[in-house]
Amino acid sequence: MTITKGSVVLFDYTLTDDDKELIDSSKDAGPLAYLQGESQIVKGLEKAMEGKSAGDSFKISIAPEEGYGLIDPEKIAVVDADQIEGGDELEEGMQLEASHDSEEDEQVVVVSKIEGKKVTLDGNHPLAGMNLHFDIKIREVRAATAEEIEHGHVHGDGGHHH
Ligand SMILES: [Zn+2]
Repeated sequence: MTITKGSVVLFDYTLTDDDKELIDSSKDAGPLAYLQGESQIVKGLEKAMEGKSAGDSFKISIAPEEGYGLIDPEKIAVVDADQIEGGDELEEGMQLEASHDSEEDEQVVVVSKIEGKKVTLDGNHPLAGMNLHFDIKIREVRAATAEEIEHGHVHGDGGHHH
């Protein structure tokens, strides 16, 4: 069968950036499973998957607009280290959970730069603004079960276990 809305797809991937540096791959964690049509993978990749079958391999380059989005300058803030809990122990690359006024709006930010007491916090997705170069191999395509459609995610290999 070919991939269409409601298909469960199990696939291997290698993701590299413009400099051919490895960002992520399924090599260690094993193939990934997702439900087509539920926006569980980036838009550009979901589009490219449509109509493919088990055994297919392909490469695709995806612009930020159809990947993890463009970098939003409003999600970058420079704050004083004194304003952050544990501010004197910060290191570049650390992830913090920023809670704003409302508790439900918790967001992960990355400490992207430290200059003296000035700390730059970046709430953008780490892959925002990047072109994504995927190398894909589709292992398995099957119809989702009624339960998977109800839950909106895949059960079993590469998916949820519960
Ligand atoms: Zn479930």
